[in-house]
Amino acid sequence: MQKIRLGISACLLGEQVRFDGGHQLDRFITETLGQYVEFVPVCPEAECGLGVPREPMRLVGMPESPRLLTVRTRIDHTERLVAWARKRVAGLEQEGLCGFIFKSKSPSSGMERVKVYPESGQGTPVLRGVGLFARVFMEHFPLLPVEDEGRLHDPDLRENFIERLFVWRRWREFLAAGPSVGGLVAFHTRHKLLILAHSLGHYREVGRLVARAREMPVPALCDHYQSRLMDALRLKATPKKNTNVLHHLMGYFKRDLSPDEKQELLEVIDNYHQGYVPLIVPVTLVNHYVRKYHPPYLADQVYLHPHPMELQLRNHV
Ligand code: SF4
Repeated sequence: MQKIRLGISACLLGEQVRFDGGHQLDRFITETLGQYVEFVPVCPEAECGLGVPREPMRLVGMPESPRLLTVRTRIDHTERLVAWARKRVAGLEQEGLCGFIFKSKSPSSGMERVKVYPESGQGTPVLRGVGLFARVFMEHFPLLPVEDEGRLHDPDLRENFIERLFVWRRWREFLAAGPSVGGLVAFHTRHKLLILAHSLGHYREVGRLVARAREMPVPALCDHYQSRLMDALRLKATPKKNTNVLHHLMGYFKRDLSPDEKQELLEVIDNYHQGYVPLIVPVTLVNHYVRKYHPPYLADQVYLHPHPMELQLRNHV
């Protein structure tokens, strides 16, 4: 399987590009996730010519449109960094990225809650800034999955992000193969229950869109579908929503199950719902019955295999 191409703040890979010549190596990213992805490192501050080491910087002014100033000498690098960022993201178009992991809290790379200091340089900063490069990137690629390494320590956010990476990769492959209505119907059929696990509203909406697929030009149809799909997947798949999907899945083979098997599966789903076991437990049992009874439609459901088992992402949610 071809590796997923993933943009990343270079210091998270251990590259010594921080202002003090250090790095912020993240071993989950490099050693675990690194087995499935090919990284495309970006260090805005070093690449735009500010050098290593360099004077540290921070965001100053209005949180919606802050400036990037060096801390001691107050040199303004905003225009330089933004002009460089616009060119860099245009170049990243050719890289086929499926997502980006940003370095948290950085005035250049942080994707949210970056400190913005008052104009005077004195006083308490507000946690409402977005790093200058991260802002340009997210405006250019509004649908791409993005996260920062701090948020990836949360098992729910980690599972959600990696699930979206794999969905985006499949979507790119679908587009690369030459999109068609039939192809979109097949793609949607495989992803239906995954979408349902995130949002009943989106599940119904994209279902209606696909049902009327022949009424729209294919490019417009695909644009609309991808935007609704990625919006849906950004929403949290809660235990309540997953429980609903698991009951739904059970409906496809409940006539095949013996009374004992049915009882066992219902108990395991309930144990998950109550928080006694992680999601991997009922999903493993469902997969067992799918292999045993071959219910048509379920074997290809992405919900049952959204990302490699070895990442153990559903062992913690
Ligand atoms: S946070 Fe961004 S700008 Fe700072 S060292 Fe890391 S990649 Fe470079």
